[in-house]
This record gives sequence, structure tokens and C-alpha cells, in this order.
Amino acid sequence: MTRILLLGGTSEANALAKALSDAKIDAIYSYAGRTDTPAPQPLPQRIGGFGGIDGLIAYLNAEHISHVIDATHPFAATMSHHAVAACEATKTALIALHRPPWEPVAGDKWHHVPDIDAAVIALPATPTRIFLAIGRQNLDAFATAPQHHYLLRLIDQSGPLPLPHATTIIARGPFTFISDRKLLTDHNIQLIITKNAGGDGARAKLDAARDLGLPVIMIDRPAMPDRFTVETTAKVLEWLGHSALRGA
Ligand code: NAP
Repeated sequence: MTRILLLGGTSEANALAKALSDAKIDAIYSYAGRTDTPAPQPLPQRIGGFGGIDGLIAYLNAEHISHVIDATHPFAATMSHHAVAACEATKTALIALHRPPWEPVAGDKWHHVPDIDAAVIALPATPTRIFLAIGRQNLDAFATAPQHHYLLRLIDQSGPLPLPHATTIIARGPFTFISDRKLLTDHNIQLIITKNAGGDGARAKLDAARDLGLPVIMIDRPAMPDRFTVETTAKVLEWLGHSALRGA
């Protein structure tokens, strides 16, 4: 019997949830619980961590999961490592659905850094107006550079921010070139910091940055464990053996 655990929290996972629901495949959507307002899903949901690798093993056994689909964000490395370990231990089939990283094109002024700490080190010394487009989780690291003004775009406004000079916009993608170009000019942004998330939904800020000649500090992806990885919903469905749904 096929019973799927879909590790989510991304637009790719949401699209896959719809495809699985449409195909009437038994699946559970898992959120980490990072936001107050997770997008509703057409699948049964669970919210919160599993309790490490052992907790995930126990969950896979208790729920009789046959397949795990890791459609978490490309920066969610801990969850992805846990999924590999737990699936190996329980002999559960595992596939990762990850969008390819963004690649620079002519006119881009990207400065690559390996992680958040390196992004902080790469900041200019003089006060700068920065679009810090990394979500909420890693903002603490930028508290060591309080001289800058940070523009933040978050999904919800829960909790105080660790940055003394910040403007917060509450919005959920996908975003467009026109609106992101306006955002950058309205806030007199001089520098953008982003994770190399890939995908179309958050790409517009990079196109706008290129158009405006703005530099970007690009945080490269963390190392991921070896596992079978595909880039489209259709490939996941193919892997599941639902060939009739190819092209979904
Ligand atoms: P992470 O560092 O890889 O995971 C930390 C812990 O959070 C995991 O060990 C696990 O707890 C729990 N967790 C993560 N994803 C989960 C899921 N889908 N379902 C249940 N538990 C989950 O992950 P993260 O970077 O904090 O990301 C958390 C969530 O936000 C993910 O669902 C990811 O897709 C989404 N997200 C992350 C980013 C980002 O930039 N990192 C951006 C957009 C969305 P236990 O060990 O207790 O099981």
C-alpha cells in the first residue's frame, strides 16, 4: 500500500500536494511549523518536528509510510539529512523534489558566499540600505551589523526583530519584476542579500537588481546528502508509478 509523507514548506511541495490529492493518493503533508499561517493543503496535515532521526523513524513506522517525498526548501539541510537516515533505517523509499539553483546571467553583480555568517562578513562597513531577503530564521546573525537599514519581506509578523533599523513588509510570493523593481526603488535599496533558493516565485528581485545595477550577496546552498533528486512534480509522479499523470 502506498502511503506518502510529503515534507513540505515550499511552493513545490504545495503543487505536489495538489497533484497527489487530485490523483487520490494517500499522503500526509508535513509542516515544520515555522509560520503562524501555513497555507492550507488539500491533504491531511501534521505540523511540527518529528524529534530528530529517531522520532522520524518512529513516525514512519507508526503511520505505515511507504514513500517519503522531501520537498523542503533547499536550505533545510537538517530535515533532508534526517529523511535520508530515517528512510535508510526503515527501508522507506525516498525522493527529493528540489528546484535547480539560480545561475547568474550577463549584467548580474553577484558576490557568492557559502553561508549566512559569510554574508554578514561580506557586508560593507558604512551604513547601507539592504533588502535582506532571507526570511525570518537567520535574522539574528545580522544584529552584529546594526548600522544598516534592513528591508525585510516576511510571511507573517510574529515576534520582535533583532535588527534596530528595519522596515518589514508582510507578503507571500510569487513576486513580479515590476513590483520588485518598485520595491527596490521605493526603499532606495543599495544591496540585496538572498539565499540561492531557485525557482520562479522569488526570482523577480534578482531580475530587478540586474535592471537597476544593484549588487547581490548570494548565499550558496548548503551541502545535501546523496539521494535520488528530481526537479518537477511530473518526475515525482513518474517515480511513484502513476505514469498516467505524467505532465501534471
Ligand atoms: P531544517 O533546519 O532543515 O530543519 C530543522 C528541524 O525542523 C528538523 O530537524 C525538523 O525537526 C524540523 N522540520 C524541518 N522541516 C520540517 C517539515 N517539513 N516537517 C516537519 N518538521 C520539519 O529546516 P529549516 O531550514 O528550519 O526549514 C523549516 C521549514 O521551512 C521546512 O519545511 C522548509 O521547507 C521551510 N522553509 C525553509 C526555508 C529556509 O530558508 N531554510 C525557506 C522557506 C521555507 P525534527 O528534527 O524535530 O524532526
